[in-house]
Amino acid sequence: MTFDDPAPLGFASLAVRAGQTRTAEGEHAEPIFTTSSFVFASAAEAAARFSGATPGNIYSRFTNPTVRMFQERLAALEGGESCIATSSGMAAVLATCMALLKNGDHIVSANSIFGSTISLFTNYLSKFGIATDYVQLSDLAAWEAAIRPETRLLYLETPSNPLMELADLPALAALAHARGCLLVVDNCFCTPALQRPLELGADLVIHSGTKYLDGQGRCVGGAVVGDRQRVGVDIYGFLRTAGPTLSPFNAWVFLKGLETLHLRMRAHSMAALQLARWLEAQPAVARVYYPGLASHPQHALAQRQQRDFGGIVSFELHGGRAAAWTLIDNTRLISITANLGDAKSTITHPATTTHGRLTLAERERAGIGEGLVRISAGLEEVADLQADLARGLDRLADA
Ligand SMILES: *Cc1c(COP(=O)(O)O)cnc(C)c1O
Repeated sequence: MTFDDPAPLGFASLAVRAGQTRTAEGEHAEPIFTTSSFVFASAAEAAARFSGATPGNIYSRFTNPTVRMFQERLAALEGGESCIATSSGMAAVLATCMALLKNGDHIVSANSIFGSTISLFTNYLSKFGIATDYVQLSDLAAWEAAIRPETRLLYLETPSNPLMELADLPALAALAHARGCLLVVDNCFCTPALQRPLELGADLVIHSGTKYLDGQGRCVGGAVVGDRQRVGVDIYGFLRTAGPTLSPFNAWVFLKGLETLHLRMRAHSMAALQLARWLEAQPAVARVYYPGLASHPQHALAQRQQRDFGGIVSFELHGGRAAAWTLIDNTRLISITANLGDAKSTITHPATTTHGRLTLAERERAGIGEGLVRISAGLEEVADLQADLARGLDRLADA
């Protein structure tokens, strides 16, 4: 079974079947190929592989069968021609930039992206003559104004972390292409189960497999999906040379994670929506940020662009940092950790953790208040999650 078969398969079928090839052993599940190198039948075959005259495995920094199965499955789910797996989500961002950019090029990025990505752009790519300007995610005019003749990439995440703001992907894709740029979307929060950026006009999709693709908080890894030339040749070329490749074991965990991705994303979304509606009715809560709420300013865009609204919900408490920490410290079930996309629900205080390195002024500009709390809704019973949060909310009411 390959996803090139003439009858097009639906998402759920691709999630279970795409990319698998069986060995002579006839195994039903996908095997983990824990081997660093591969053997050749003859010196002539080795020479032909090394010269590229015949395809085939040489060394696991270049290709590995388990990694390839994961790549083909994720490519099928994102609707891309090619996928390259990486050792982390950050390695996917780095490989994309190293392969496609050169000294003098320019990036326009949303200012609400993952903190390490901002650090990579600002502190490291800048050393090699690649400059980045940051704009407000939903402000199309700001994106347009920031583009220069040397701009190569428009870079964003949608919805954003932690305020769940959206980018209009077809509008930004049209802008990027009119100005000779590539649109790169980090699809970590939605995954292809909820949003397929390539269909909406994006050129490249970045993943941190660490989050929902794994889905159970076990492995670090990432991927880039896109066209055959940029991903299959250019980014692959950087990766096999520089080496931040995905391990076969982690690839296998992600491969099996993809089989249940759409079911998990539906469950995460249902739980987050129920929590968001419940939180909106709590007197201690000033505001809830969730695209599935009618009160979200981009609710209509979310309905157009996404199949569901995702598992992350943020909310601002009236009582500032003290209230946020009281709520967090009174949980017994929800894990206090900055990670997300796990079967276990997590709770975090962005102002002092994920966004703690920003100055107060930068945080205020970004809308990250001291009373802001972010929850990644897991797969526990929603009633138990509510009870866990109600304990802290009751303390706030008593205070
Ligand atoms: C976690 C994350 C990353 C980085 O991925 P790692 O696997 O931790 O390197 C990139 N983008 C987003 C949106 C993330 O949440």
